[in-house]
Amino acid sequence: MMHKNFLLFTLAALAVTLCFADDDSEPWNYVIADKSKGPDSWSTHFEECGGSKNSPIDLPTSKDELYGEKAVGWDMHKWNKFNDWTVLNNHYTVKFSLENEGIMTTKGGALGANYEVLQFHLHWGANNRKGSEHLVDGKSYPMELHFVHKNEKFTTVQDAVSSGDSDAFAALGFFFELQEEDNPDLDDLVEAVKAVRNETNYQESGVKVNVSEFVSSASRSSYYRYFGGLTTPGCQEIVLWTVFTEPIGISADQMEIIRTQDDNSYGVDFFREVQLLGSRPLTLYDTNYSPEGYLNSAETFQIFNFLTFISLLITRFF
Ligand SMILES: [Zn+2]
Repeated sequence: MMHKNFLLFTLAALAVTLCFADDDSEPWNYVIADKSKGPDSWSTHFEECGGSKNSPIDLPTSKDELYGEKAVGWDMHKWNKFNDWTVLNNHYTVKFSLENEGIMTTKGGALGANYEVLQFHLHWGANNRKGSEHLVDGKSYPMELHFVHKNEKFTTVQDAVSSGDSDAFAALGFFFELQEEDNPDLDDLVEAVKAVRNETNYQESGVKVNVSEFVSSASRSSYYRYFGGLTTPGCQEIVLWTVFTEPIGISADQMEIIRTQDDNSYGVDFFREVQLLGSRPLTLYDTNYSPEGYLNSAETFQIFNFLTFISLLITRFF
């Protein structure tokens, strides 16, 4: 009996090992317990993952920890169009690569250069209490979407990577927040994810998605900006980051479709832990910013009330 159990255990262990050896081509993963490939080992194999300007980071809301700037408008060319995407489920993310490179561009937003969209992909976790890469005052969102762009001054992605320039790439991050109802603007995205969630099909080409359908539901008038890196190995510090403060709505059912994989041997949390901001400046661009500070409508109302109170005092005593 003892021998039989031992044999079964050995066979099971071998099957797991083979499974990893066959399917897991990446020399890294998100599994914390995996000491050879997990996040704790990234900087051993990829030196830049131990750098001082890595991503993601925890974004503070306290104005004392931020530089303020007036938000600059965005010029998102061909975002509002049903472009063709190749959708790939690589078990760490679902990636949508633009088939006609250079067609979608992003300008403005105080980026300082013009950028071409290459791809977008998703980060999520085992449940709705985690999943985003960036945090806001330590708070996670259930999902974060990243649009990855190449600075248009570089002809190829390889040129951009090897330049080592801190703004060689630009990433735009959008948080997702749970809402009661399904968000119909996400239908095409969710359907595309479903199509590559089949154990015999991990890739689809010519998938038509109009990203402005869901992106435009989040206001682009308030966004964080800092210099950071790729959030996956090799973690090169060549990314100008933008993270929008207003999330996109998603239902628990839609999150469940995105989260459910046919193969969980790659882990269940597909986001990197936050890294230290260090001495890097972090700026919040906001349409409500003025050189005297931020004025939101509640504060404006309080000032108005205070002035009314003073004027009442003046009328009463003089
Ligand atoms: Zn990402």
